[in-house]
Amino acid sequence: MPISPIMSSVAVSDSSAPAARLRIFEAEGLSKTYDGGRIQALQGVDLIIHEGEFVAILGPSGCGKSTLLNLIGTLEKPCAGMFLYRGRAVNDSFDGQAYRAHDLGFVFQAFHLLPTFSVIENVQMPMFETNWTAKERYQRANELLRSVGLTERLNGFPTQLSGGERQRVAVARSLANRPSVLLADEPTGNLDSISAADVMSLIIRIHREQRITILLVTHDPAVASRASREIRMKDGKIISDSGGMIGLARPHFSEEDPQ
Ligand code: ADP
Repeated sequence: MPISPIMSSVAVSDSSAPAARLRIFEAEGLSKTYDGGRIQALQGVDLIIHEGEFVAILGPSGCGKSTLLNLIGTLEKPCAGMFLYRGRAVNDSFDGQAYRAHDLGFVFQAFHLLPTFSVIENVQMPMFETNWTAKERYQRANELLRSVGLTERLNGFPTQLSGGERQRVAVARSLANRPSVLLADEPTGNLDSISAADVMSLIIRIHREQRITILLVTHDPAVASRASREIRMKDGKIISDSGGMIGLARPHFSEEDPQ
């Protein structure tokens, strides 16, 4: 039986946060192994994320950051543990496809733009999951590209753009369906420092203007410092959390929660 969204009064580091906020994600004992258990990518992660937080997940290469993001994005399934989205268990009866299409926006290090489609067509791709008309899709993509400063490049192709421009297209695409959560995996990892700063400023502006929840994976402390909360990982575990949430997920799970 799904449990209802829970309001929490736990204080977080974001000083603009109201005292009580909706828990958008809750994880308990989230684990992931590969290679028949020989690789322990995630080892029992407990985590609470509130709506509207901007969380950086930080740590050295191989510590499990992308694995955690992939589990939250339902791109992969955990081997053990529980995970709730807005109080609903993310399990076999959860509609992961609808969740990814309508609730989440993804930004990846390698941009993942389709090279044979124009910039404005790339931004429209997620909108094919909606029932919007072609004109509505075009207008929405146009508006998004304007908001990321790429009005001049609508009909260009990804290969004609710089890395920073490609990532701005990818950010515009991630917002196509007005997601409530943005999952960004090393969004500045392939960029020079000026483009990286540009893309981070864009992400910060999106957070400020839209109050969207952002989870951003990075190995770069300078990038992480721009988020309102920093979670540090090592060897598949959370070792520090500026939101002070370590170990706080557990008491809120009921025995009746579906697995
Ligand atoms: P990070 O994002 O912090 O660099 P990852 O989450 O990508 O770390 O990886 C955590 C560990 O899991 C690493 O040892 C990595 O090699 C391993 N790993 C990740 N994905 C796979 C996979 N699909 N198959 C096997 N091992 C994997």
